[in-house]
Amino acid sequence: MDPVIIGPLIALGFIGILVLVRVILAASKKEPTESKTKVLVHAINDERCTGCEACVLVCPTAVLELKSNKSKVIRFDDCIQCEQCAVVCPTTALVMFREGSEPPPVLVPDLDDYYQSKVPGLYLLGEAAGKPLVKNAVNLGRAAVEHSLRSGMRPGALAPQGRPDLTCVDVVIVGSGPAGLSAAMSCQQRKLSYVVLEKDAFVASTIARYPKGKYVMAEPYDVRCVGLLPVYDSPKDKLILDWNRILTQVGLDIRLREVVEKIERQPNGTFAVGTDKGKYLAQKVMLCIGTRGKPRRLNVPGEDQAMVQPLLDDPDLYSGKTLLVVGGGDSAVEAALSLATPALRNKVIISYRGKAFNRVKAKNRQAIDQAIHEKRILVLFGSNVKNFGSSNVTMKLVEGRERVIPIQGAFVLIGGDPPIKWLEDMGIGYVQKPHGFVRPPTDMLVERLIGRQPANDKPNLPVSDELSGFFDHAAFASLADEGGGKKARKEATIMVPKDEFLLHLPEKLRVDPEAQKVSQLRHH
Ligand SMILES: Cc1cc2nc3c(=O)[nH]c(=O)nc-3n(C[C@H](O)[C@H](O)[C@H](O)COP(=O)(O)OP(=O)(O)OC[C@H]3O[C@@H](n4cnc5c(N)ncnc54)[C@H](O)[C@@H]3O)c2cc1C
Ligand code: SF4
Ligand code: SF4
Repeated sequence: MDPVIIGPLIALGFIGILVLVRVILAASKKEPTESKTKVLVHAINDERCTGCEACVLVCPTAVLELKSNKSKVIRFDDCIQCEQCAVVCPTTALVMFREGSEPPPVLVPDLDDYYQSKVPGLYLLGEAAGKPLVKNAVNLGRAAVEHSLRSGMRPGALAPQGRPDLTCVDVVIVGSGPAGLSAAMSCQQRKLSYVVLEKDAFVASTIARYPKGKYVMAEPYDVRCVGLLPVYDSPKDKLILDWNRILTQVGLDIRLREVVEKIERQPNGTFAVGTDKGKYLAQKVMLCIGTRGKPRRLNVPGEDQAMVQPLLDDPDLYSGKTLLVVGGGDSAVEAALSLATPALRNKVIISYRGKAFNRVKAKNRQAIDQAIHEKRILVLFGSNVKNFGSSNVTMKLVEGRERVIPIQGAFVLIGGDPPIKWLEDMGIGYVQKPHGFVRPPTDMLVERLIGRQPANDKPNLPVSDELSGFFDHAAFASLADEGGGKKARKEATIMVPKDEFLLHLPEKLRVDPEAQKVSQLRHH
């Protein structure tokens, strides 16, 4: 071919290739721009955010921070879209969704205005009902008791069944968090027999297990506490101590370490409640179970002893001890690591039936390898607990032989079952609501039932004859002062004014001293 033609042809070819490359490059550059418009973004419902910090702590790139006790997206550019924050949020306050679309709907229990489920007489209160926060839970405890009375419950209406194995009460309260305790105090005030069944070894276990030093913020600040249990800004330890003083004075009937397993509505409208320790018959049931679910059990002999715990609260309480941790997930590994620090000098044994820690985070796997290497932790893979003695555990080891190992404490951290399935089996349905859905203020709900409470009166401290020995009123009245209010004021800007709490004291304390005896009397 004539070189005069070939030259321009080659040049044209080059130009063509160059254009093609540019088009491809442009196209490949366009793709990230398109997908950027589709990245996941956060939606946070402040009304449901409890400030529990779970999302903040789980985020690997520190995108989130708590501001005024609510989670906020501070460094979105650093977000790697892992969605862990949404997965750990216990209240579905935080969800993630594609930018440009709507946040996904949330599943909430199908309840009427008074938190009664579709099963008449079965109430779901507090955080489990999709209305988190301590003050809301306290208000709802009172509202449910008042509503029960309005809808036909009569004190002592259940005839004794003549069965020594069956306890008959007006109300069975499941859970001793703020909702359950408040419901129990309202039952006492209204001379209803009741029992509080609590699976844990102490009351208000969700709050008691907040991280060390955590303040309980008495939110929402525009809602008043009109339940009978006081709520104010306070370090969690102080609030729990104050509550325990009140509970002791009132003499609440609380059965600790008793797990409610089954609730069935009978054809006559009463409820048969089965626990791991006994049977109850009630006119109404109030489920105040929070959202932490039921920790799974090993179901081996000796597991009910105080030495065996379903959670680790405070590793600093153990030092120089031989301790067993059962489980192979992140919570078991993290608990073992926190117990096995050189400062605490514990010997920690992990019993895990799997062959390796396949499910744990890389960071934890590294730390556990180090602790094993330093002989702070011994891991028994492929082992199974057979039973617990008072100071030992019997385990079947991987090679099949059994061994008795002396221990001074054990933590069974094998996960938990969220309560949704359990509640559904009981007949409590769930419905979809928009992510921004909020239930109305809880103080107004109570006031709809007991009448409007004075809003602007000067607070009156209770007089002693009103109390008639029911409360140590001086101690009780001082709670709001001492209850961390002063200390809390230094750290937080929004406070519940002491007067706002005291405002309701006289009304709260007008409880018949005979009432506290009613529950016990009816049991016999
Ligand atoms: C880390 C953290 C920080 C928080 N900070 C705040 C705050 O500052 N201010 C605030 O207002 N809220 C805060 N919250 C939220 C608040 O603690 C909850 O909304 C509140 O405790 C809910 O009360 P409740 O009575 O509904 O349930 P819970 O307090 O969760 O109590 C439920 C009880 O039921 C028991 N139970 C469960 N199942 C059974 C069963 N089958 N049988 C027997 N007993 C059972 C449990 O052991 C538990 O004691 C925080 C939550 C967390 C996790
Ligand atoms: S998606 Fe992952 S990286 Fe982004 S904020 Fe949530 S936890 Fe952090
Ligand atoms: S996990 Fe949920 S409830 Fe807890 S701070 Fe984050 S958004 Fe709020």
